[in-house]
Amino acid sequence: MVGLVIVSHSAALAEGVVALAREMGGEEVAIEAAGGMEDGAIGTDAERVRGAIGRARSDDGVLVLMDLGSALMSAEIAVEMADPDGGPILLSDAPLVEGAVAAAASARGGATLDEVAREARGAIRMKSEQLGGGEPDPDPAQPPADLGSAQQLRLLVENRLGLHARPAARFVGALRGLDAEVQVSNATQGRGPADGRSLTGLAVLGVRGGDEIRVLARGPEAAAALDALRALADSNWGDEPTDDRPDEPPAPQGDSGAPEAGSRLAGVAASPGIAIGPARRLQVPEPVVEDGPVGSVEEERERLDAARAAVRCDLDAARAAIAGRAGAAEADIFDAHALLLDDDALLAPAAAAIGDGSGAARAWQSAAAAAAASFRALEDPYLRERAVDVEDVARRVLGHLAGTPFAAVLDEPGIVLADELTPGEAAALDPDRAYAIATARGGATGHAAILARALGIPAVVGLSESLLAVEDGTPLVLDGEQGTVEIDPDPATIAAREERRRADDAARAEALQRAGEPGALRDGRRVEVVANIGSAAEARPAVEQGAEGVGLLRTEFLFLDRVDPPSEDEQVAVLTEIAEALDGRPLIVRTLDAGADKPLPFLRQAPEANPFLGLRGIRLSLAEPELFRTQLRAVLRVAAEHPLKLMFPMVATLGELRAARAHLDAERAALGSAAELEVGVMVEVPALALAAAQVSPEVDFFSIGTNDLTQYTMAAERGNATLAPLLDAASRAPVLRLVAAVVEAAEAHGRWVGVCGELAGDPEAAVALVGVGVRELSMAAGRIPAVKAALRETDGEAAAAAAQRVLRP
Ligand code: PEP
Ligand code: MG
Repeated sequence: MVGLVIVSHSAALAEGVVALAREMGGEEVAIEAAGGMEDGAIGTDAERVRGAIGRARSDDGVLVLMDLGSALMSAEIAVEMADPDGGPILLSDAPLVEGAVAAAASARGGATLDEVAREARGAIRMKSEQLGGGEPDPDPAQPPADLGSAQQLRLLVENRLGLHARPAARFVGALRGLDAEVQVSNATQGRGPADGRSLTGLAVLGVRGGDEIRVLARGPEAAAALDALRALADSNWGDEPTDDRPDEPPAPQGDSGAPEAGSRLAGVAASPGIAIGPARRLQVPEPVVEDGPVGSVEEERERLDAARAAVRCDLDAARAAIAGRAGAAEADIFDAHALLLDDDALLAPAAAAIGDGSGAARAWQSAAAAAAASFRALEDPYLRERAVDVEDVARRVLGHLAGTPFAAVLDEPGIVLADELTPGEAAALDPDRAYAIATARGGATGHAAILARALGIPAVVGLSESLLAVEDGTPLVLDGEQGTVEIDPDPATIAAREERRRADDAARAEALQRAGEPGALRDGRRVEVVANIGSAAEARPAVEQGAEGVGLLRTEFLFLDRVDPPSEDEQVAVLTEIAEALDGRPLIVRTLDAGADKPLPFLRQAPEANPFLGLRGIRLSLAEPELFRTQLRAVLRVAAEHPLKLMFPMVATLGELRAARAHLDAERAALGSAAELEVGVMVEVPALALAAAQVSPEVDFFSIGTNDLTQYTMAAERGNATLAPLLDAASRAPVLRLVAAVVEAAEAHGRWVGVCGELAGDPEAAVALVGVGVRELSMAAGRIPAVKAALRETDGEAAAAAAQRVLRP
């Protein structure tokens, strides 16, 4: 497979382009960054480029993409220095970012070096076509001229976003390895034809949801090529079914351009719940950057540093507030913002502009605008949404520089309308005044949407520009489940929505009111309902939501974001604080589960091709005995005073469990600890589930981590939204079968089984889990009232029947 090398004056830029290109090329394509100088300075270094070429090169060759100026010279020197015996090396004149992304997709599709180079060069066409101008590319990804007696196929593109970046990449991928020439036209819009193996070509066709495409194929495997495309179309081009909702016709508009009374806008459902109220706009004073006198370079840099330091404090405060209200995971958004404050992609251009005589505010403003614009230009919707994060942080810093610190005020209660809401604005909303959020832009994975869900504020995003023409005070009904906003509906509609909201609210209120009752089925069978927490601040709010204890304390928060590991005393202090907040309720502490998506900054880990299958969880603890033993000592000390239990994450074999227990026993002996401490094991690896009979005699309990167990059972990365169908519906039966097998083996030895993955917090799934004999359910605290309510409505027999429906659909 052809490899890629990204040469840039900036190491950060090179790494960023590699990350972007990986979105298209995946891990299969070798893509290497060669950015900056050896000492971290801006510039290019032929030796670094040569090294990168060596790593990315194979017999199929390597394409080198460069930014500008001396990058070209460094690359040319690197080619001369390179081993003459390797595969071919080609220097590309393509634009760096667009070229890298297009080349990665093309390389992944198995294209030759020349094809990859042509694809990269043609990439700029996407942009110029989209902007409706530009010179025609002299050498675009040309369609085959004449396909003679080709076979033909017409396909309707039914997914909502059409052949956007990922479906287009899948299109190209489906043809990989087939000996056929394929030509595609957009029959609806009269565009094309284009080469079906060219991502650029497909993009230029501008195929949108609802368009029909015409595919012609010729060659020995033409029929197979058409079959592959038909199958891809049948799978909704690989998109999630939720993307399927056809765009509703735009709401009819009145003279003022505002949607007419009685019309309905359709967007993306981002946070459930029905809200009824008048349209309101959030007042967020924009900092005004004056072109006043500019201090010395030193003074302006200091001003910028001081503003960044002030924002860091603001973000800490926002983080703490959200951790208390919504949970640590959501509060992490503000950690990501704090990282942006130190991001070289913003700091370096701002510092350079100050060096050139700009004031701090102007320099920061332009650096942030450029960074946000580059995010907005991306194809990938998830990455595009990160532009809002940049703008949020940038505005906070500007606010301090311009003397108008960030504030978001809602003058009167109602449904908040905005073009797009930043996480800072969403976090500042008071749920008593902001009944709901409706935005013209944004997606369900945006941080504002995540925060809205965590704060329990109904939200619909991506409602299009028409929303912005709605006048303040207009009566609205927002349905966060359906993803709709009704404009000035008639009284009968309002009454019907009121009725549904009342029923939902009543069910929620009753669930909350009874959340303090012990978890149990209608027939009295006890099911312990406990919380997953990841910080000390979450313990008390969890109890208030009805947690009967903590079934999973993720201790990673003690170790991440710091330059050295926490001391034993520090850990004792935090664990004691949590145990005290639980006031005698049980607390299950999970030992450090770092690695994979949670690297430890103070630990050097060798890069891994697939970190989720690498040195993580108990494997890492066993490889770092000093770190592990310190944590075990802290746990043992607190267990002497409080009802603690301990469990080990990511165990795959009995051998690992025994090794972990040996460390524990050694520390227990050294401490002379006689404290009772139940020891359990998490079941997250299918191998351990299958060995439950052998493991049972050696543990006191099992806690099943269905997030990872699902990931490893389905071979589908847990955070990959495009794999949602595999991770959700398709995984239910196999995962429940594994849970049932563990319960059976555990019960034979008198051991109990709990579940602490997301599944436990889904009321329907929780009932099925209880139906196979799970005795403890541990979940995000906000889920507890609804799960307890669902348990109250079922009995043992009904739960067993629910489990059978999943196991034998
Ligand atoms: C799990 O994998 O289900 C689990 C609870 O652990 P985490 O989500 O922390 O990986
Ligand atoms: Mg896990």
